[in-house]
Amino acid sequence: MSDVSTATAKLQNLLELDRVGLEDFFADTLGEKRYRAHQVMKWIHHRHVTDFDDMTDLGKALRAKLQQHAEVCVPVVQFERPSTDGTHKWLLGMDGRNAIEAVFIPDKSRGTLCVSSQVGCALNCQFCSTATQGFNRNLSTAEIIGQVWVAARHLGNVPHRQRKLTNVVMMGMGEPLMNYDNVVRAMSVMRDDLGYGLANKRVTLSTAGMVPMIDRLGEDSDVSLAVSLHAANDPLRTELVPLNKKYPIAELMAACERYVLRKPRASITFEYTLMKGVNDQPEHARELARLMRQFDRAVQMNDAAKVNLIPFNPFPGTRFERSGDDEIRAFQKILLDAKVLTMVRRTRGDDIDAACGQLKGQVVDRTRRQAEFRKELARQGLNGEGVDAAA
Ligand code: SAH
Repeated sequence: MSDVSTATAKLQNLLELDRVGLEDFFADTLGEKRYRAHQVMKWIHHRHVTDFDDMTDLGKALRAKLQQHAEVCVPVVQFERPSTDGTHKWLLGMDGRNAIEAVFIPDKSRGTLCVSSQVGCALNCQFCSTATQGFNRNLSTAEIIGQVWVAARHLGNVPHRQRKLTNVVMMGMGEPLMNYDNVVRAMSVMRDDLGYGLANKRVTLSTAGMVPMIDRLGEDSDVSLAVSLHAANDPLRTELVPLNKKYPIAELMAACERYVLRKPRASITFEYTLMKGVNDQPEHARELARLMRQFDRAVQMNDAAKVNLIPFNPFPGTRFERSGDDEIRAFQKILLDAKVLTMVRRTRGDDIDAACGQLKGQVVDRTRRQAEFRKELARQGLNGEGVDAAA
């Protein structure tokens, strides 16, 4: 145990810690009882207080000790924008150079926050705006849970009363399973009663298909899983989601089966972004229906596979277009007729570029992808204006 009287050079950001981490910090660094951590956690996540002096039920000595060893450092709101449909987007500064986006989407019975896991993304999915930004780094636990903190404060969210924030989806910028530890720790705070108290099934992690990490998640966590499929055959999926080359559909579906079989009554949502003339034809729907039926049979449960159809959201420089309403309806009908539970996701927040695939924040790219993207834009006769401007 370190001596509590010696000042540490670096303050511990308490937003980095989940319940166990905070208890350990109280015991090992502060020499306090573990349960004292619970009071602080409630101050931070329920009441959105960051100054130890305002945590009035803590003794003076403990407050002084906290000041000496810790801080509560939250993301800086650089810009926020409400949409006409109630959607709200934040641009959050993370380190003075990079910014990420989080989006709140209210609906009749729920309020969903879409949370980012990385600054940019390394996966290069062809139809996603974040990909054009390149990749800088993983977000820390504090930066991930900080997005929930900012939204909850804005909404005046109080757990166990009438809450506005009821769901979190890890569907913002980045691939959450490539930032595994920080994402899992942040999701634990989301589900903790001392944190945001969300039920397991109301926290959803969305992945482009990192097969080994899906297995790890199945062992470590009980959150809902969404898988970005977008095509039911390998050549097309590899074109749209290059990660498919490494983890092709058969391997991905096998991992999904293992995930569901580990948990009674779990289901998986398969996301399918509909792009005109690319993956929206009747044969694509039939192929998808077959794959989904096969999945249900493998796990011996009806409706284990749910399909979420997402009409493509355009962004500057993209070569894709949204499918027409008739194509979307016809696609859905083929799946429904094959007894596959299929929803069409309503587009929300597109007037403020906050819809799926439109998030881009401000990424200092370290992969040269932006330069390549600009060259591609030039080839298409576009000047790339607005490509790296803040949203
Ligand atoms: N990397 C993770 C999470 C981020 S993407 C993943 O791939 O699942 C969240 C969802 O938005 C995914 O289903 C993704 O395919 C979808 N999406 C990306 N770009 C889109 C666009 N331009 N229009 C509609 N949906 C898009």
